[in-house]
Amino acid sequence: MKNLFEEHEWSVIEKGFDPERHMSAESIFSIGNGYMGQRANFEEKYSGETLQGNYIGGIYYPDKTRVGWWKNGYPEYFAKVLNAVNWVGLNVNVEGEELDLKHIAVSDFTRELDMRRGQLTRSFVAEFSKNRKLKVEAKRFISLVNKEVGAISYTITALNFAGNIKLTPYIDFDVRNKDANYDEVFWEEVATKIDGEYPVVACKTRKTNFHVAATMVNKFTSSKGTFHSTVNQLSRKKYVAFEHSFKIAEGEAITLEKTVAVTTSMHHDAADIITAANAILTNVKDASYIDLFEPHRLAWVEKWRNSDILIEGDIAAQQGIRFNIFQLNQTYTGEDPRLNIGPKGFTGEKYGGSTYWDTEAYCLPFYLCTSTQEVGRSLLKYRHDQLQKAIENAAKLGFTNGAALYPMVTMNGEECHNEWEITFEEIHRNGAIAYAIHKYIRFTGDDKYLADYGLDVLIGIARFWSQRITYSESRKKYVMLGVTGPNEYENNVNNNWYTNYIACWCMQYCMQAFNMVAEQDQSRYEAIIAATNFDFIKETSRWTDIIQNMHYPTLEGTNLLLQQDGFMDKEQILVADLDPKDRPLNQKWSWDRILRSVFIKQADVLQGIYFFEDEFDTATIQENFDFYEPRTVHESSLSPSVHVILAARLNDQERAYKLYLRTARLDLDDYNHEAEEGLHITSMAGTWLSVVEGFGGLRVHDGVPFFSPFLPGNWKSFSFKIVFRGRVLQLTASANDATLSLVSGDSLKVGLFDKTYMLSAEEPINVSR
Ligand code: BGC
Repeated sequence: MKNLFEEHEWSVIEKGFDPERHMSAESIFSIGNGYMGQRANFEEKYSGETLQGNYIGGIYYPDKTRVGWWKNGYPEYFAKVLNAVNWVGLNVNVEGEELDLKHIAVSDFTRELDMRRGQLTRSFVAEFSKNRKLKVEAKRFISLVNKEVGAISYTITALNFAGNIKLTPYIDFDVRNKDANYDEVFWEEVATKIDGEYPVVACKTRKTNFHVAATMVNKFTSSKGTFHSTVNQLSRKKYVAFEHSFKIAEGEAITLEKTVAVTTSMHHDAADIITAANAILTNVKDASYIDLFEPHRLAWVEKWRNSDILIEGDIAAQQGIRFNIFQLNQTYTGEDPRLNIGPKGFTGEKYGGSTYWDTEAYCLPFYLCTSTQEVGRSLLKYRHDQLQKAIENAAKLGFTNGAALYPMVTMNGEECHNEWEITFEEIHRNGAIAYAIHKYIRFTGDDKYLADYGLDVLIGIARFWSQRITYSESRKKYVMLGVTGPNEYENNVNNNWYTNYIACWCMQYCMQAFNMVAEQDQSRYEAIIAATNFDFIKETSRWTDIIQNMHYPTLEGTNLLLQQDGFMDKEQILVADLDPKDRPLNQKWSWDRILRSVFIKQADVLQGIYFFEDEFDTATIQENFDFYEPRTVHESSLSPSVHVILAARLNDQERAYKLYLRTARLDLDDYNHEAEEGLHITSMAGTWLSVVEGFGGLRVHDGVPFFSPFLPGNWKSFSFKIVFRGRVLQLTASANDATLSLVSGDSLKVGLFDKTYMLSAEEPINVSR
């Protein structure tokens, strides 16, 4: 395994500047706070290859759809996560020469992402002409506490010269998306001015009319005690800067502390965002970088308290899992139910819109287990709030009577994906949304969620399936034609097992949910029936008939659940038979060849077995795993984690660990040579799942958390906490034993390996192997 960066338990460290890996490093060293985030762009000018990226949660642009051939039903636009104001910039000029690492020689370069404290630091020595050496030490963070605030501390030291310096901190809103269908500029200027004390740039998005303002305050200090500069205000459209000219003495260190406020019309009235930004700066302007950093650091201590996973005996694994946890915590904090988890988070533009089925299928358990119940609720509530749009989306495709089809990709509930085989056919996403409600309730016990928000969503989803499924006279069975399963390497297939299965499960679960809500709150039940115009007898009889008579493709004489009706017609070769030169298939093979092949992009049947594990006996799981794993190319980063969990379930520890290595450091080591586009944030949740549900064996049955850990690879031990129904539990597994302890909360029943115990704070449970 190649390590791009140094191994360290709590940090990602880059030693030496390598322009070739700068774009990937910009993604990997990204920072964010759930409200906004940014790539690790240099503060000073860099004219080499870079992707300038600052993103704000929920701020998007509906970029007009561009396709080769329009299909009825395509969404009008693809929502683009918007590259927003660049507030990190500051230019450094030494005796007329600009600091630009593309042209200026650099030594002792170190870039560090301190994951424990949420801080990005960098230091280097730049060598200008006449051998003038300038040391640079830069730090920055985006506050977890004061979400609209970011701060930079930038120190320059004249190592061996005295001379004229210009330091020019600026705010630049003249930014473009790399990913733009028509090369449009998405931002219009609202104001560029000095407003009272602070320089400000405010812009609004075209079409969506989101307003964003950024203001800054800059403070200078000198190691010599006093600091004087002449200040020149520079401003042009969407750009404001203060050029500070001063003389630096040999050995003198000058520190610029730049603090910014970034406000948006998502949180303030559009007309007030400048005033709001100014008020924020007025509150913090006397605070030093360290003053602002301290509460942020403490907030990270809190974040890590329950979300950390401790791995002993393998630093690379420790760093890998912490990197994933850190990025997940930076991307989503659950405070704003309008936000969600984009596949690239705040680290790049690819994948545009923010929400995919990844959230429900992969990310929810991470937030459920490591934060409060409200965070999980927020994720579910996001879909509830978009139910009407899902109903409209289904109506556009010809469905009626309140049937809801949630989008494949969305920012605001509207579909914005436009590849027909995915937009129209990858409808299994609807199932994951229902499944997430079930998973949330099973984990939290909060079954009131159904009456509050869940049942409406389930009805819409179940209605969709009931209309999408048709009756085959020839088979005398219900069928679902023309779908794409999670395995996007097959399109327009009939009876994808996973989709058929989850569709029936949704209808079944919705009927159970009706009963649960009726038992809890009869009047709410009646209100939902009335509001949804639900014809109970008629609709549930059809659902029941479908459930009882659904066709599932299987292979006679085996326990195999088939991907789809035609799967066994394919040439049955294995990934091991492929020439390595042909990998990855999606870059080497024509699309039609991929579609005709047996190769599976990501867990599909196995995804279903993972979700509904209790419905299958071990022999069936084993047979399907043994069949599909050798046919799966894992060309989606979401895929290996499901295989890890199933391999662990099957006690195949070696295989579980081998598969885990494919996901553990995917971005950190840039396995797929694509980290430069942004990180795989949603699949990081899969990596976390691999440890907690795979190696830790966490399952919840009848309100009881069960664990059945084993120790993978060369680890000496591993340990994680889960927040469970008002308690915090900790599992520690080593080679010879496993210990469950109650960190806080009331005693509860737990399972360890195959026995149950009462766990109290006083008495941890220790079981030897
Ligand atoms: C996967 C999808 C996933 C999407 C975003 C695709 O490559 O096949 O399942 O939703 O990436 O992560």
